[in-house]
Amino acid sequence: MPELPEVETVKRGLEEILGANPVIKSIKVLNPKLRFPVPKALQTKVKNQKILAVKRRAKYLIFELKDFILYSHLGMTGTWRVFENDRKKHDHIEIILKDGRKLTYCDPRKFGLFEYTKKDEDYHRLDHLGPEPLGTEFSFDYLWQRSRKKEVAIKNFIMDQKIVVGVGNIYAVESLFLSGIRPTRKTKNITKKECEFLIKNIKDTLKKAINAGGSTISDFKQAGGDSGYFQHRFNVYGKSEHPCPRCKNFLKNTVLGGRSSVWCPGCQK
Ligand SMILES: [Zn+2]
Repeated sequence: MPELPEVETVKRGLEEILGANPVIKSIKVLNPKLRFPVPKALQTKVKNQKILAVKRRAKYLIFELKDFILYSHLGMTGTWRVFENDRKKHDHIEIILKDGRKLTYCDPRKFGLFEYTKKDEDYHRLDHLGPEPLGTEFSFDYLWQRSRKKEVAIKNFIMDQKIVVGVGNIYAVESLFLSGIRPTRKTKNITKKECEFLIKNIKDTLKKAINAGGSTISDFKQAGGDSGYFQHRFNVYGKSEHPCPRCKNFLKNTVLGGRSSVWCPGCQK
């Protein structure tokens, strides 16, 4: 499943490939049945609009046009690719550009989303989202204040999108390992030092993943978007019952909020 670093990688790849302000000639909805029905009005409304910018908020890709904003969420298996002439099975949306290229959304499992608003109109799915993990708003002061009196397990806390967006299971597991904090620890019990360390590790882990993804942008272009995702190297994620890379104790797995949470009984308190 694409996590924040993959979506950021796709965003950067699209920015690079699309170049400066391409104009949308038309949009074709081949199949509106994604996670939510794709509004057919797109086809008639969004014509002759420049793509002014490609942005990302949480795991949403955002195409900023002159009069509209398009929102894309990749769900489980969504990809975008840019080609001149091709159509594959599971292609659902085609954005035809005036320069002859075609920006195509493909999604075999159809959990993705494609919606739009008029410019300056609120997009309800972005309401109540916490700050971006790599932004300055996600700081020690911010997390420390919000963590006080919270009984919830620290792992569930940092995965709460209202607290901070984009810390998926992988990044929560890895950041907690690097910070020496057990995933089950009550949030209110983390110390100032741990909170500081946790913030740093969340940011570092995500940055590393984005940088690794960044190096595959050229593959992403060649492969026409079916990659763009990258192989991560994890310390503990997916390595339950393996020896800890630091202390050699055997890693354990605890299910928290329905998600597997690998941790080291030697290193994490
Ligand atoms: Zn260990």
